[in-house]
Amino acid sequence: MSITETVSPAMFRPVCAVIHPAAFARNLKRVKEKVGNARIWAVVKADGYGHGLARAARFLSEADGLGVACLDEALRLREAGFHQPLVVLEGVFSLREWALVWQHRLQCVVHSHDQLLWLEHWLNHHMDADQARPELTVWLKFDTGMHRLGFEPDEASHVVASLQRLPAEIDWHWMSHLACADEADGQAVTEQQCAVFEGLTESMSGQRSLANSAGVQSYPQTHYDWVRPGIMLYGASARSGTDLVPAMTLMAAVTRLRWIAPGEAVGYGQRWRAQRPTLLAVVSIGYGDGYPRHAPSGTPVLIQGRKVPLVGRVSMDLITVDVTDLSSQVSVGDPVILWGQGLDVDEVADYCGTIGYELLCGVTPRVPRLEADQAEKAHVWHNRSDDDGHTSTGV
Ligand SMILES: *Cc1c(COP(=O)(O)O)cnc(C)c1O
Repeated sequence: MSITETVSPAMFRPVCAVIHPAAFARNLKRVKEKVGNARIWAVVKADGYGHGLARAARFLSEADGLGVACLDEALRLREAGFHQPLVVLEGVFSLREWALVWQHRLQCVVHSHDQLLWLEHWLNHHMDADQARPELTVWLKFDTGMHRLGFEPDEASHVVASLQRLPAEIDWHWMSHLACADEADGQAVTEQQCAVFEGLTESMSGQRSLANSAGVQSYPQTHYDWVRPGIMLYGASARSGTDLVPAMTLMAAVTRLRWIAPGEAVGYGQRWRAQRPTLLAVVSIGYGDGYPRHAPSGTPVLIQGRKVPLVGRVSMDLITVDVTDLSSQVSVGDPVILWGQGLDVDEVADYCGTIGYELLCGVTPRVPRLEADQAEKAHVWHNRSDDDGHTSTGV
């Protein structure tokens, strides 16, 4: 056996992202309750929002289909044995991808004239003459106000006419994307986008899709035929007050405890100084793991079920936490929750001036993802003191 074969994930360095299968099921059920008869594309792009592409797909396989950003992700899912409907939300980046879209029966967003031209070119020049007319399902994306991707609304009949001219059996549907549905003051913009989408599609045949998670949660008029939730399936949300369950708990452990005197400073750049005799916990996670370096002093972490503040700069492999208020309870080896069950990723994100999405997607490959039952068996939070039965309490 090679050395690495004898080492299981999180065997020595206590850091891991615990993935909770039951949370996916719970959150998907919540989406179903919200959207009634609309069908659900469960969005698993960006490595399943950091939870693992195939893992997220497996736990969300009860959805009507899966949404990915690009062909690379779609093909990885097909290769892993996912045969259900897949939609490629950004569509193709080049002509040759159309062959793969067709070959792997992917549904594909078309948001630009270039993508249409590539489709036409592929159909006219790359299909054998004796082949049957290929069948394709595309989602025509229109810009209803976000001004990122999508055709102009007044191009709709022109785009449809170009599709009808192609030598293929093409089913087309309609989609757009909401810009402000997760903003507290986003109602006017969202209603305006809805009105544009409604006007564009009302006399057209084909199915319609507009809502992301924020649309699912807050705007029933955006549900239409298919919804496309991502973040809420992972139990995070830009909107508070929802009963979603976090699907990832990012964990590390107390590695060292030490008292410092008032006036003493902590960490790189000495950015934080103790005001009182302070018990510091050094915790085994840092920006090399995806914990954000710009997390300011005061960002909460959870130890012994209590929120305690990060102090000083985040290092690559370590952070420092003020645990003075827990000094009689805390010991080396105690689990530390950075976000997840017990501490909302959105709360941590607020401190860091970002959103839960970025924190979840940013967990680096160095961090083992362990499903809840594996995590319970992980070595690091047990048996640390096998040799002499002793760990220091720092007091
Ligand atoms: C990512 C994405 C979604 C999912 O968005 P959430 O805010 O995570 O629910 C839906 N539709 C499109 C086109 C996307 O790119």
